[in-house]
Amino acid sequence: MNNKEFWFVVGSQFLYGEEVLQTVATRAAEMTEKLNASGNLPCKLVYKVTAKTNKEITDIVKEANYDDKCLGIITWCHTFSPSKMWINGFVNLQKPYCHFATQYNREIPNDEIDMDFMNLNQAAHGDREHGFIAARLRMPRKVIAGYWQDEAVQKRIGSWMRAAIGVAVSKELKVMRFGDNMREVAVTEGDKVEVQAKLGWQVNTWPVGKLVETMNAVTEQEIDELMNVYKSKYDFATDKIDSIRYQAREEIAMKKMMDAEGCKAFSNTFQDLYGMKQLPGLASQHLMAQGYGYGGEGDWKVAAMTTIMKAMGENGESVFMEDYTYHLAEGQEYSLGAHMLEVCPSCAADRPRIEVHPLGIGDREDPARLVFEGKEGDAIVISLVDMGGRLRLICQDIHCVKPIMDMPNLPVARVMWKAEPNLTTGVECWITAGGAHHTVLSYDVTAEQMKDWANMMDIEFVHITKDTTVESLEQQLFLNDLAWKLK
Ligand code: MN
Repeated sequence: MNNKEFWFVVGSQFLYGEEVLQTVATRAAEMTEKLNASGNLPCKLVYKVTAKTNKEITDIVKEANYDDKCLGIITWCHTFSPSKMWINGFVNLQKPYCHFATQYNREIPNDEIDMDFMNLNQAAHGDREHGFIAARLRMPRKVIAGYWQDEAVQKRIGSWMRAAIGVAVSKELKVMRFGDNMREVAVTEGDKVEVQAKLGWQVNTWPVGKLVETMNAVTEQEIDELMNVYKSKYDFATDKIDSIRYQAREEIAMKKMMDAEGCKAFSNTFQDLYGMKQLPGLASQHLMAQGYGYGGEGDWKVAAMTTIMKAMGENGESVFMEDYTYHLAEGQEYSLGAHMLEVCPSCAADRPRIEVHPLGIGDREDPARLVFEGKEGDAIVISLVDMGGRLRLICQDIHCVKPIMDMPNLPVARVMWKAEPNLTTGVECWITAGGAHHTVLSYDVTAEQMKDWANMMDIEFVHITKDTTVESLEQQLFLNDLAWKLK
């Protein structure tokens, strides 16, 4: 994303004369420069134009739509900018849009202020006219208000930019499916045509036989090289080296097939491992650590969401997760998340260990896998479900803790957390909303970013917070259902 950029478009008009327009342009350029130098924006901001006519706005929107470098536009009105001139541009805008309601000067200068000052510095006035037209046009947008030199405000813009990065990644995402979804499972299913139309994902299948063929063509030297990478990152807590080498073979083959097709996410299923000796464990985990999204049991939705959220987050700390079991001791109520093998080590509290254990599911040889505890910290879990006719993104605030017991016989990576508002109400809300057992758990993507992303993608968003009650959620879901049927 280093070569990507956002465009700063400033609204004005001819009414104030050339000098004012020149001042606006100079200040917009200065603000852009300082915002870029702040280190709080993940991508470069480019000042494009002080727009004064319908044609200037229409032209810049056309350019933004077709320039792959441009991930979104940010507008602001230093002066008043009559908004009918924005209509033709805005109705055609296809990129994420943020309205930054700010002001060049921080304070009202007591002695200096006169009507010239007022006419030059009237964002309070101009941004309201500007905001109306986006509301009137029902545009998906983010409104951020605050002083442009404040770090907290700059960080909010940076955070929104990250959500817009998620939009760009989503629109070009390709998902490689090895095998179909697990038989009879409902929540991992979905309308791939609708998903491609809404989110851009290209979700297609490749034969497991082709993967096995590619695995057989992997050389011992290639495996040696990957084993060295494993050694540099993980402790070997097993002497079954051949099992680890087999996972390396699987990883190399899956990566080759994905890279050849430009895929950044994949799914597989233990019910279709024809010709494979082990279910990929370590192989999938190490691919996730490199930014590839993964979903077990054919869950291509969670695989794609993992890729998108890894790209949105500052540190790629978004991981495929599954709610497994509860600890229901009074006053000590926790969820334990894991998977049969495939938890991404980017959430590990310490250096992961490679272990080899039998796997009761899938009827194959003992697979090598990474075992570790997840780290502490505030996080979210999200689930994207297909409601039939629309997609719903469910997000819950959680707090991850160091697991309260060491569980010496549990042979998989594990994360323990407290869900908001508490375990039982949280579970009631999650189940009421239809959230899946598979989630993406993220330490560095926020609920606000996921809301922004859902808004830009035009899909339903449901947020379970410390203040959510089952009653309020039921009411919201009922109204959402009506609203989305009308949409
Ligand atoms: Mn699963």
